[in-house]
Amino acid sequence: MNNPFIELGIRHDIVNAISELGFENPTPIQEQSIPVLLTGSNDFVGLAQTGTGKTAAFGLPLLELLDFEENHPQALVLCPTRELCLQITNDINNYAKKMNNVHVVAVYGGASISDQLRQIRRGVQIVVATPGRMLDIINRKAIDFSQVKYVVLDEADEMLNMGFQEDIDNILSTTPDEKKTWLFSATMPAEVRRIAKKYMDNPFELTMGTKNTGNQNIEHEYYVVRARDKYAAFKRIVDNNPEIFGIVFCRTKIETQEIAEALIKDGYNADSLHGDLSQQQRDKVMKRYRERSLQLLIATDVAARGIDVNDVTHVINYSLPDEIENYTHRSGRTARAGKTGVSISIINSKELGKIRQIERVIGKKFVKAEIPTGFDVCEKQLFALVHKVHNVEVNESQIEQYIPRIMDEFAELSKEEVIKRFASLEFNRFLEYYQNAPDLNAPADDFRSREGAQGDRFNRDGMRSEYTRLFINLGSVDEFSRGELLGYICNNAKISGRNVGKIDVKGVYSFFEVVNADVDNVMNNFKGIDFKGRPVRIEISGEGVSSNRSGGGGRREGGYQKREGGYRGERREGGERREKSFAGAGANSNGGGFRDFSGKRREERPERRRRF
Ligand code: AMP
Repeated sequence: MNNPFIELGIRHDIVNAISELGFENPTPIQEQSIPVLLTGSNDFVGLAQTGTGKTAAFGLPLLELLDFEENHPQALVLCPTRELCLQITNDINNYAKKMNNVHVVAVYGGASISDQLRQIRRGVQIVVATPGRMLDIINRKAIDFSQVKYVVLDEADEMLNMGFQEDIDNILSTTPDEKKTWLFSATMPAEVRRIAKKYMDNPFELTMGTKNTGNQNIEHEYYVVRARDKYAAFKRIVDNNPEIFGIVFCRTKIETQEIAEALIKDGYNADSLHGDLSQQQRDKVMKRYRERSLQLLIATDVAARGIDVNDVTHVINYSLPDEIENYTHRSGRTARAGKTGVSISIINSKELGKIRQIERVIGKKFVKAEIPTGFDVCEKQLFALVHKVHNVEVNESQIEQYIPRIMDEFAELSKEEVIKRFASLEFNRFLEYYQNAPDLNAPADDFRSREGAQGDRFNRDGMRSEYTRLFINLGSVDEFSRGELLGYICNNAKISGRNVGKIDVKGVYSFFEVVNADVDNVMNNFKGIDFKGRPVRIEISGEGVSSNRSGGGGRREGGYQKREGGYRGERREGGERREKSFAGAGANSNGGGFRDFSGKRREERPERRRRF
């Protein structure tokens, strides 16, 4: 059978290279855009989230279309951040690994300009650049774009958000009129429409998924807590997800730093990424994160733009973003390349309205989750440890020499005793930390009035009174997340997800609310249903089942990462300047301002934006 990329029109040496990268089948955007772009005769607008395979969608056609016997710039890729610039350059180089004389140069701020100039002088066909530094080089008359055939505007919405409109105008004015422009954007605000109109002639438009909606593989959850409990609640969420590899978003640099410092002090593998770090420091943090020496990256919106790390399991909105659009960008850092992910928001009861607004924009409902009890966390950690022990790879040859002595040490103990002791090593620590830990969920009173104001009624337990709480004998040990349990319930009970309320996934069981009218459907349709050979049991829940609350703050062993000092006060240079003050140019030149939670478009809010 032919490789599907060959069928799309990609040549063998490129297909061989991408096969080595594990690309077996094209992603949907690649499947649909590659044949169009390969004609080389269209302008193109692709509305697609990050992580969908956009880079290959434009990178592979560029490698097919350019003449690599010529050593002058033929394609220019503009993107918002240095991270993304390096990523794209690296990706294209990888796709071209088996081709000859392909020269791709990355042009970005915060690094030596003379190195970049040298690479350009040596001859380059594809320039991948952030706008600030690119303009710098153009102004020095160090590059000739008169023979550019293709311009790619990647993450166009981000570039406009960051105030690059004017720079883009200036850069494009140095390229020929007859070039083709390919624009990719995660969202299509009016400003992006405007540049599409300005630079393109009857473009081919491709929309992957619904306009303005986020990645459908992301589950969105929110937790309602009181402001004073926020940090403790956050830690408990982290502790309840032992395998978390997450990005935590804060609104300001100071908050980012404070949270990172507190986490480090509490023994977590965490560090911060924000605009006050020098490029070198940013690189160091990112390297550690990519290598997974860091488990939690605490970041501002601007600093986290363009981060392309696969396998991010959770995005945590420690604070909700100022602009609704930023929520999509934040949550898009997880569930990349077809994987799933969870986007968590920790809010206070006053912010429920913002959650509803985000739901409308992303076209997806949030699940209201409960801060786990101390008991839940201990159980989760215990089973994570049990799984880890069960799956650990044993280095037979190295451990062999110690086995007789180890056996001697345990000679008096039964197998059960040994297992119990190993498990207790971790479990005791968590039990101790979570002993008497309080309930951190905001009392129903706090948000009853808010939700109630929007039309819901509540009974004495703070539950919306048209819902009934049901028990199900499946839980996290059966590898159900909230979203998966919701899907499982809806499929089997044949009810709409809209009729399911709060879902509370515990270890071996869970609770879920369902509208009263559907209770019989659930009970009847689940009759005779098995899960992996076990009958599924559903009951109307008694009261006080989740009374086991405690709280506190988990501490993690071994994870303490010493942090290099001197982060504050260092400045980045070059193209990066825009990232620090994207307000000015962005708000001025794209003319549209930004949508805030009041639903209005803001013209400008310099003091807040400038902080980034
Ligand atoms: P991108 O949206 O270009 O940043 O791609 C997101 C991730 O998906 C990157 O890690 C790519 O290496 C990966 N990827 C892109 N296309 C494919 C494909 N056809 N098969 C497997 N992985 C892919």
